[in-house]
Amino acid sequence: MDTISHWIDGAPVARRSERHGDVFDPATGKVQAQVSLASPAEVDEAVASADKAFQTWRHVSLAKRSRILFAFRELVEKHKVEIASHLTKEHGKVPSDALGEVSRGLEVIEFACGIPHLLKGEFSENVSTEVDVYSIRQPLGVVAGITPFNFPAMVPMWMYPIAIACGNTFVLKPSERDPSASMFCAQLLRDAGLPEGVLNVVHGDKVAVDRLLEHPKVAAISFVGSTPIAQYIYETGTRHGKRVQALGGAKNHMIVLPDADMELAADAAIGAGYGSAGERCMAISMLVCVGDAGDRLVPKLQERISKLKVGPGTDASAEMGPLVTKVHLDKVTSYVDSGVAQGATLVADGRGFRPPGHADGFFLGPCLFDHVTPEMTIYKDEIFGPVLSVTRVASYDAAIELINRGPYANGVAIFTNDGGAARKFQSEIEVGMVGINVPIPVPMAYYSFGGWKASLFGDLHIYGEDGVRFYSRAKVITSRWPDPRHRGVDLGFPQNK
Ligand code: NAD
Repeated sequence: MDTISHWIDGAPVARRSERHGDVFDPATGKVQAQVSLASPAEVDEAVASADKAFQTWRHVSLAKRSRILFAFRELVEKHKVEIASHLTKEHGKVPSDALGEVSRGLEVIEFACGIPHLLKGEFSENVSTEVDVYSIRQPLGVVAGITPFNFPAMVPMWMYPIAIACGNTFVLKPSERDPSASMFCAQLLRDAGLPEGVLNVVHGDKVAVDRLLEHPKVAAISFVGSTPIAQYIYETGTRHGKRVQALGGAKNHMIVLPDADMELAADAAIGAGYGSAGERCMAISMLVCVGDAGDRLVPKLQERISKLKVGPGTDASAEMGPLVTKVHLDKVTSYVDSGVAQGATLVADGRGFRPPGHADGFFLGPCLFDHVTPEMTIYKDEIFGPVLSVTRVASYDAAIELINRGPYANGVAIFTNDGGAARKFQSEIEVGMVGINVPIPVPMAYYSFGGWKASLFGDLHIYGEDGVRFYSRAKVITSRWPDPRHRGVDLGFPQNK
């Protein structure tokens, strides 16, 4: 059986770690590989490699850094089908979805190629007589990224292209459930000309993460994952003096107003609810139907669900794949059970569904609940599976108030044809990323991605200009060139003349 090892100093590590984890094929339920789980000493090795590389990488010119990223961009484009196949094999998402993930990661690499422009400082001439002030942005040192299972290629790409473009070196700790895409991309970066040690990959669990959180040479941590872990990472990392951005979980709502185009709203809800089997941090899991919108929308959802093709990624016609692990499948199934027990109406029941020949795969068919209320567990918790719920409210104001009361605030959407209603929504809704007739409003690479409240701990969002700010620090220089006229001791506080 294959063992997936770490990537340190520009090459895979040959020896075996003491501890290992299973990597499953979610479509068959079989263990297909083992992944090394790093010890603190192995994490130290990766950090030492990154620290050594930083001493030279920080001085590499912007032109050269940018050219390496351009070359990497070309290689990712050329090998995107291969990267996507790693995602399908270990995560389970179907090929069209996996390719979409790679293309959204690629956009961040393209953004990072523009680093010479993004790192430009400011200059003020003659702030006082013959005194100039200017600012520059410098790298932080070794930075670490800790990423979730659901976007094994894209989420790391939200981080390392910008971090290394800024002159940092990087240690990536990807999800131990689907580690291969990171290894493949590390190879591509090496082939693009990235010097050894600038990007290292260590696989592991809490042991590896905790070592990164306390390591004195790690200057900053980017984290993406569930809310409890995000909060832990933020609190522990900042306590150890690190800069931290920690993106957490979500419960994304989509309001449907009675004037909306119901066909459009139904298509959007199905795509955003069941795409990637609901394992997206921007998935829509709650439909908030105002007035009679629910009566008109639910039958259209039912009709579409009955036609959805669930199957393994090897079946070209499959639109939705399995869940990532048996443990996760059981957890999502238990949420469906709890919705039934707490009195919601189960309109579509995907429990027990298996595609032919995949009896042991981690499949769950699409589930749809109607008449869900805010007291129910399925309303409150992030389920992270193919479970879409409908709740009904009497007024638009009640819909906004309901969403603003929630603890999560990652993404949100509204479907309406009323410009005034949409404008009120974008102004009053307390959520970080807002879609107007767009169900999954993931910002482009040249904006930044981030939720509010329990969906993000820290000040700066990820990628885009916030990413450049996160991975660099400003230095302000005040300069005057010697001139005999400035001679003479003066103990007064400097004033501008
Ligand atoms: P997770 O929080 O379980 O794991 C994320 C990372 O943290 C992994 O690398 C994992 O190894 C590590 N980790 C797990 N438990 C840990 C612990 N006790 N101590 C230290 N490290 C630990 O998340 P997941 O299940 O891999 O991913 C799904 C979650 O991620 C969902 O909640 C989803 O909403 C969220 N997510 C959020 C965003 C966003 O942008 N806000 C994007 C993608 C996923």
